[in-house]
Amino acid sequence: MHRIPPARPVMNERLADLCCPRCGRSWPVADHPAGCPHCLDRGTPANLRCRFEGDSFGELAVLGARTLGEGGTPLFPLVPGLAPAGIEVWVKNESANPTGSHKDRFSSGAAGRAAAAGYAGIVAASSGNAAVSLAAYAAASGLGCELAVTREVPAPVAAAVRAAGARLYLFDTAEQRWDFVRERGAEPDLLAVTNHARPVVGSSPFGVDSMRPIGWEIADGLGRLPEHVLLPTARGDLASGVHLGLREAARRRDQPCPRVHLVEPFPRLSAVRAGASVHDSFPGSAASTPSIGGDSTTAQAWQVLEESGGSPVVVDTGVERARLRLAGAGILLEGASAIVLPALHSLHERGEIVPGETAVLIATAHPFKGL
Ligand SMILES: [Zn+2]
Repeated sequence: MHRIPPARPVMNERLADLCCPRCGRSWPVADHPAGCPHCLDRGTPANLRCRFEGDSFGELAVLGARTLGEGGTPLFPLVPGLAPAGIEVWVKNESANPTGSHKDRFSSGAAGRAAAAGYAGIVAASSGNAAVSLAAYAAASGLGCELAVTREVPAPVAAAVRAAGARLYLFDTAEQRWDFVRERGAEPDLLAVTNHARPVVGSSPFGVDSMRPIGWEIADGLGRLPEHVLLPTARGDLASGVHLGLREAARRRDQPCPRVHLVEPFPRLSAVRAGASVHDSFPGSAASTPSIGGDSTTAQAWQVLEESGGSPVVVDTGVERARLRLAGAGILLEGASAIVLPALHSLHERGEIVPGETAVLIATAHPFKGL
């Protein structure tokens, strides 16, 4: 779509509503930080999705959101020695975004929504990539930014967000951060853009919407759809955005939609596949992959597996070795990004990815903020 950008962000008139993939109900375009009201009442919360009139390829929910040049990230072949024999593997390098992670796409949409709807600021819980990214995009959008972080927040993250003018609030636990976001998000001039619900829902649908171009760019870059896409996941925001974008690209090209495989450091989605409820608590350690830690998963993450035919993949060892192997090939990533490489080999060993097929690994973030 080639349009003259509006002077300030506005909602796309082709955005029809927000729909719930779980119960099928649709809701007017508004902010629903606890997800679908109907599913929330039933105790089975689910995030909403932006739904457009007609073909949604090329459309974003927010028009004219402030940009720092996010998107259009590199797509390049993985060096053959790192891939299983006979499988064509590409890397979609989201660490090339302005603050070093895929979160920049999310932040553009989430901050854009806040500006379009007239909020004075955003509030979020994150101690890592999202914190830095949201601080930068709030600053670019002329919005205030309040960030709830744990006391273990890496020093480079704290320094970066303060430099961008965001206010940091320190808490002992992740739960306390969410309580803060819920309370502050109830203020009429502040928009909560990350999850604060328990059971967990996920983050702003408008932020998730703005990650759909990852799927479009993969199809454009390859000139076709791959059979498989692998990405690290915790609560499924990225997974949901990428899957929706791939599905739109597949429809447009009249090709099958790729299977989206979701990689996790301990069983959450894998436990759901084995019969657990998506709203259960799944304790586990993610010391080498803090960006995808946490004891919860979401309906939106599960929905991606259901709709795309993908598999959950647990990688609980070998992440640091994979990170160093990738670094040795010049691809510098954090552990939570490098986790997709052992997952690729695992899916190959399970016979789910076979010679002659193409897989795309989504490399979500560079490692510098964690050093
Ligand atoms: Zn619902």
